[in-house]
Amino acid sequence: MKVYSFPRGGLSFEDSSVPRRDSSKVAYLPTLSVIPLVQHTGGRAYPVVSVGDSVKEGMLIGRGQGAGSANIHATVPGKVVRKVSWKMAEGQTNDALVIRMEGKFEKLGRPEEIFPWADLSPLALQRLISESGIVEMEGTGRPIPDILSDLHSAQEPYTLVVRCVFDDPWLAADYVLCRERLKAVVEGSAIIAQAAQVSRIVLAFSHGEKDLGALFLAEMENYDFPVSLVLTGSRYPQRNRRELELVLRNYEEKESVELGSLLILGPATLAAVHDAVKLKKPILDRYVAVGGSAVKYPQVMKVRIGTRIGEIFAECGGFIDKPRRIATGSPLRGRTIMDLDEPVTKSCSAVFAMLGSQVGGSAPRNCISCGECWIVCPVGLDPGELFKRIDGKKSDETRSVPAAGDIPNECHGCGCCEVVCPSRLPLASLIMGAAAKGH
Ligand code: SF4
Ligand code: SF4
Repeated sequence: MKVYSFPRGGLSFEDSSVPRRDSSKVAYLPTLSVIPLVQHTGGRAYPVVSVGDSVKEGMLIGRGQGAGSANIHATVPGKVVRKVSWKMAEGQTNDALVIRMEGKFEKLGRPEEIFPWADLSPLALQRLISESGIVEMEGTGRPIPDILSDLHSAQEPYTLVVRCVFDDPWLAADYVLCRERLKAVVEGSAIIAQAAQVSRIVLAFSHGEKDLGALFLAEMENYDFPVSLVLTGSRYPQRNRRELELVLRNYEEKESVELGSLLILGPATLAAVHDAVKLKKPILDRYVAVGGSAVKYPQVMKVRIGTRIGEIFAECGGFIDKPRRIATGSPLRGRTIMDLDEPVTKSCSAVFAMLGSQVGGSAPRNCISCGECWIVCPVGLDPGELFKRIDGKKSDETRSVPAAGDIPNECHGCGCCEVVCPSRLPLASLIMGAAAKGH
């Protein structure tokens, strides 16, 4: 079967400090849960409970306020004991309700009630997804109703792309989820396909996982949608929207199928859609890869939203030495966290703690014009040259580079350039920062 890859740049890499992908461990329920009122880059939910109120597991505690905002639910039963605010690494302030666990669980340990959905209209399905506060369970965590609304306004046929492209070893949690909840991910795909009225489903799998892709394809035959399996390369950042769309357009041309606009969703989001519609359950927990060289026993864990990150590390045996960097996401695009009391949110797929030896100790030096960053840049930029330009330095390089005005639209912050730079220059962050300021 043909493997579709993006044409230039990218990286293949391994990381021995990621957790194994064989199974997950259920994390202890937190005595105190910190439930942020905004868990994605969007608007804050309005709290509908106050300090002193009792809440049930799965109860609405924050109501989304229109586009960009999503409902927030209590993930454990208990009492709201206080409201806290803290500054995130990006400087934005977040508010959270702190729940002390007490009382009985409504869902945990009870037989799951199944709600048939096949006869529901697209609007009814969208309403259930919206009420459950479903957002993309990765990246910026955009609310699903907003994504569907954008697609509808495009008014063209579109395809649901189930993104199971494992180009980064830190996607271990998604991989384990696909193995352990395959049926839920596939049924979630069928639900969203019906809710969004897509014309086709594409299962995009990295070629190393083609057997898993075949299992998905077989399960998908239980639903009445045209479906195809597309094998992609596994070079990072194949999973990125731009690189994935490139290969799917190539597939579209080669196979003469019309894909139209692409609705690209990952397995964790699709499992959450399944739970929202079939089990009438909001997002209560998620799979998280916990690792890094500072962590004693890296592990994929199933963690309640609101569990403090410090508690998860403690459950993995704690640190073998003082970490140099603690962050969420992948080391390539991760977000540094300032406080181990920060909680796991809906879009937190990994947390890691790295020793100095893994982070690298030396301070940034001058560019030596080795060209490595240019070789790996998937969009063909010359990050070293851009760095010099942005940094206000002159270069006698003759290689042509895009005009400064092209920087904002082209760099998507994959971080490949930074990984390979022998001078340890903060290329991606500087270029992205310049893009944000419109240089
Ligand atoms: S971060 Fe930007 S400049 Fe660097 S490799 Fe990725 S796309 Fe290219
Ligand atoms: S990889 Fe680093 S040192 Fe080499 S050209 Fe790029 S910025 Fe300069």
